[in-house]
Formats: sequence, C-alpha cells, structure tokens
Amino acid sequence: MDERGPTDATVCPLCAVGCHLAPGDGDRAEGRAGPANPEGRLCQKGVTAFEGIDGRLTEPRVREGGALVSTGWSRAYERVVEGIEAAVAAAGPDAVAFLGAPNSTNEENYLLGKLARTLGTNNVDNRARHCHVSTARALAERFGWPATTGSLEGLSDADVILVVGANPAARQPVAFNSFVRPAVTDGTTLIHVDPVGNRTTRLADVHLAPRPGTDALVLDLLCERVLDDGAADEAFVEARTNGFEDFASELGDLDDAAGVDAAGLDADALGRVGRLVGEADRVAAIVGTGIEANGESADDGDDDDGRDHGAADSLLNLLLLTGNVGRRGSGLSVFRGPPNEQGAIDAGCVPDRLPGHQPVTDPDARARVAAEWGVEPPARPGTPATDLLTEFGESVRAAVVVGENPAVSKRDPDWVRRRLGALDHLTVVELAEHETTAYADVVLPAAAGVEKVGTVTNLDRQIQRLRPVVDPPEGARTDFRILCDLAARLSGVEANFEYAGPAEVFAELTRVAPTHAGVEYADLAAGSYRWPADEAVLYRDRFETPDGRAPFVSPPTRSPGGAVEPDSDADARGGLDLVVGGRAGEADGDGPTDRRLRVHPTDAERIGVEPGDSVAVSGGDCSVETTATLDGSVRQGTAFLHAAVADPLVRAGASTVRVEPF
Ligand code: SF4
Repeated sequence: MDERGPTDATVCPLCAVGCHLAPGDGDRAEGRAGPANPEGRLCQKGVTAFEGIDGRLTEPRVREGGALVSTGWSRAYERVVEGIEAAVAAAGPDAVAFLGAPNSTNEENYLLGKLARTLGTNNVDNRARHCHVSTARALAERFGWPATTGSLEGLSDADVILVVGANPAARQPVAFNSFVRPAVTDGTTLIHVDPVGNRTTRLADVHLAPRPGTDALVLDLLCERVLDDGAADEAFVEARTNGFEDFASELGDLDDAAGVDAAGLDADALGRVGRLVGEADRVAAIVGTGIEANGESADDGDDDDGRDHGAADSLLNLLLLTGNVGRRGSGLSVFRGPPNEQGAIDAGCVPDRLPGHQPVTDPDARARVAAEWGVEPPARPGTPATDLLTEFGESVRAAVVVGENPAVSKRDPDWVRRRLGALDHLTVVELAEHETTAYADVVLPAAAGVEKVGTVTNLDRQIQRLRPVVDPPEGARTDFRILCDLAARLSGVEANFEYAGPAEVFAELTRVAPTHAGVEYADLAAGSYRWPADEAVLYRDRFETPDGRAPFVSPPTRSPGGAVEPDSDADARGGLDLVVGGRAGEADGDGPTDRRLRVHPTDAERIGVEPGDSVAVSGGDCSVETTATLDGSVRQGTAFLHAAVADPLVRAGASTVRVEPF
C-alpha cells in the first residue's frame, strides 16, 4: 500500500490545530494548504517540525546491572513480556498500567487500549486528557461528547467570539490568524476574558480581566445580565433544555454587587459584555486550559458528585441560555494544545471509555467491541493516570509508557521519582531518553510523527492522514509496530493484532466506534472528515443525552444562601494572586518561554520592585527566584508566572504569593 498518498504533505506534529506541511529547504518545513491552514500558513514552531531530535534512539536498551545497555529487538521484547507477565501472574491484569500520548496516532492509541483491555484491564490513560478535564466532562455529561461542538471555519459566522482562559493568538496561532482574525476584521466582536492581557487581547474589542479564579462567577453574572435584559432565547430553552426554572431561581439569588466586587470588575463593563452576548444572534466561545483553574484541578481525574465543574459549566449555561448551540457560528470550541489529544480520547485511550466515547460500563458497547476483538473488555472502569501513578509500586507493579514523560509533572518531582522507582517493571517507548527513561527497565526507540502513517484528529474533530514525509532512523520502529509485536508475544492476549497497516486498524476503529462509523480511510487521502458523519455542527436538533435535551446546572460559585463565596482580596493580605500561564500539557506559543515575573506597575511600586530586579516569589512553604518585569496588561493585584516557573508554587498549593526583591 502506498501510504504517501496523492500529496507530499503530512500533519504538523506540534499542536492540535493540525496544519498541513511538507519538507522545505534544509530541515525547515513548508506549509501546504489544509483544512486547518487553508492558506498554507505555518507558525514559527511549525516550521521546525523536521528539525532533528537530540539523542535520538536507534536501538532498544535494557537495564543490566543498573545501567541501560543496547540490545536487539528480540531481547528487548522478551524483557517487556517478562515484566508484564510477572506482574499479571502476581496480582492480575490490573497490576499493569498503560499510558498513551497525544503524540501517537489514532490507530496507536486504539491499539494501546485494545492491548490493555484484551489483557484484562482498563488501566489505560493518556495524561493529555487531564489538560481539559472539567470542560470535557461538562461537555460529555451535558451535551454528549467531550469535543468542540462546531468548526473552525464556522467562526466566520459568529457575531461575537468569547475567548475565556485561552490565548489562541500565541498557542494556536494559525487557527487564530486563519479563522478568528478574519472574522474580527469582518465585524465579529471579540471578547477576551483573562486576568492577563496577552496577544489575543490585542485584537479584542473588550477585555475583561477578572480576579484569578473568578471566571465561573463572571459567567454567572453574565447569565444574570442576559436574563435581566430579557435577552434569553426562550424558545431554545423551552425546546432543548432541562432545569431552567431552578437555574434561574438560584441565579436570581445572586448578590450582584458582591459578585462584581469579588470578580474585581467594573459593573458597566460587565453590563456591556452581557448586552453584546445577549443581543448577538450567534455567539461562539473558545476555551483553553485557563478555564480549568476555575473548577476542579486539571490534574484531578476523579469527581464524586459529577457536578463540581466550575467555569466550564457556567459557560455552557450561558450558551444554552442564549440559544448558542447547534448552529454554525455558535457553540464551544475546545482549543487543545497537544497534537492528537482529541484523537487519543476518541480512540479509547482512557480508563472509563471504549473507542467512540462508549462507557466501559455499557454492556451493549462491550458487546460491540467484543464482536470485533473476540474478547470482551472488563466492565469496571480503570484508574485515571494521576491515580495510577499513586499506585505505582502498590497495586500497579508494571507500566508501559508510550510517548509520555510522567517524571515531569506538576507534582512533587521527588515523589514522582519514588513512584516510578517503586515499579517492578517499566517499559518506555520514546524518541530519546528523558527523565522517565532513567527509571525504565526497557527503552524502545520510536518513530516520530512526521515519519508515521495513520490518522490524527485535530481540535475541531477533523480526522486527517499522516504520511511518512521523512524516513525514521535505522533501528526505530513505530508505536504501531511495537504494540502489534508485543501483543503477539504476550500470553493472555487472544485478540487479533495482525494488521497489514494502520488502514486496517482505522477500519476496525470505525466498526467499533459509532462516532466514526462510515469513515473510509481512503477518503481521507486529500482532505479531512469530522466525526460523527462529517458533521461541522453538533447537536443541531438534539443533544446526545438520554432525552435529547441539555440540562442547566446550578451556578457553582455561590453558597446555598446566594451569597458570593469569599473574595480572595490579595491586596488586603499584602500579597498578589498567582496567575499561571502556559500550563503543563499545553503547547508553547511561538518564541522562547518568558520566565520573568510580570506585575502591574502600581503593585511594583507598592512592593518596591524595579524592572530587572531579582525577586523571590513565595507562597505556602515554597519560593522561586526570577527577575521582575512591569506590565500594565497584568491585572493589578496579581503576579503572572509561566507554568515552568510557577509549578513548584502550584504544587505547594500557593494561590497567593509574596514578592520580595533580593
Ligand atoms: Fe503546527 Fe500548531 Fe503551528 Fe499549525 S499552529 S504550524 S499545527 S504548531
């Protein structure tokens, strides 16, 4: 089979926009017109897609006498099989964890899930899914699927684009410049809600800079404004939703003045945004990981009551209230960072969902999968990745990590290293050695995205073909081949893993996952296909819920008595609210990471900091050192740090910090 197809292009492996590109001069990439970059644009990062990777692995390594030594593939596979089989023999299939990654293709993530489940465990996950955990869960529970509801090109029909907790101008620049910027040029109003002004703010008509952690409250206040202005879409609410009366009643109890004060906003500015949203025919919302800070933790994969979602739920309330779902130019776009984050979830590389977002607890779904695999998946959901790490060395004895580096996370690095070191066996499939391979018993050299065949799914559900536009180094193998080789060698895996290529796996995925039914691999040769049924707009007539309607949920930012939850008044405490940019798991924007502390000039004067001063930023029992810069776009009362600098403070639980020059 010729996998190179009719074009010389593949999909950029560096973020979830999914631009088409091809080799250009030297090791530079050139853009090719594709669905997500119709004018063939690439960002500064995209042009580096073919640059070499330092320390590229070209042969397997196994740990002998405490050191990783080179070996052949047969010996390496033997060691992996020994490690997994020993764990299963000692404590059953749930003693093995499989961690996938958004850098793998849809087919590779599907195979990883199939391998885990046919071995007998649902302990399969990918860390990227935790980047948007509260938004994905709110969408899945209330609308049906954890995915963007519309399309990038549909943004051109929006009268208002509301960006909350995202900086797409820096993080998804081609999507921003190809779809958002032209819409704004044509008259769409851009509203940016973010405590920090950034590149996206530069194009915005309105910037609301609420206190950190108050996005949910701001969105509740906007719902209240829409109701007070009589701008709710009553016909939509009546025909398509549940729970409006309770929602409106509880919203009516909101102490508006206290809420505006707690959010630190100007009431007139908030009222103006409420009118813009309420009077617009079509409102499209874009969210990033910033919205995750306003509900459960982005690292928290568990949720007992299933309704503690924060800002994402408040935003869905606003869209339902104004009838902004199910039409082109409306809905919610999840601007993901990592390249195949959406596809990894779609393909079932998650502990509680089979391919196509089917619950593992659903007997019909398990039967559908079993008909194809010949083996029924376990009915009990597996353990999410964050909790699996806690179980390393306890109930989990062996792990297979594909294209992931769990040693680097927001958690205490010493604790993570201890957990990795507590495993009896660790296999890592990777391009080069990194922090996690230091604990591996086996390291298998993998092929890179631009060397692969298969499909990936971008941030607006478009499935696109990858083509091997450059050759992998001698000795490296694709995750696809490695997973099939391991499955053939592992005792207890009875399912078929003999495939002529990724096209056959994709065909199997479309038979197993109803969301992907009817998609032909060959039809993806020159374009893309949005699941389900190539539909650019989800929920036109009904939501994918049992009764076809979407529920309102009560505003989560207020106590039962209607009072606004206590305001985090940083000034009163003599500190600054910490705002973290560039969260873990999100692709970096163009240019180097800015590691400086950004503070408002008024705050800098108050605490005696000059531009360029060395400063200690302290919170909890943690302190980090950096230099200061003054920035009028940073909200007064806040301290802005990139995640790479702020993570120790975040791990220490610091939401307020002190800044001291030294
Ligand atoms: Fe690659 Fe993303 Fe840049 Fe497009 S926007 S070129 S997908 S990094």
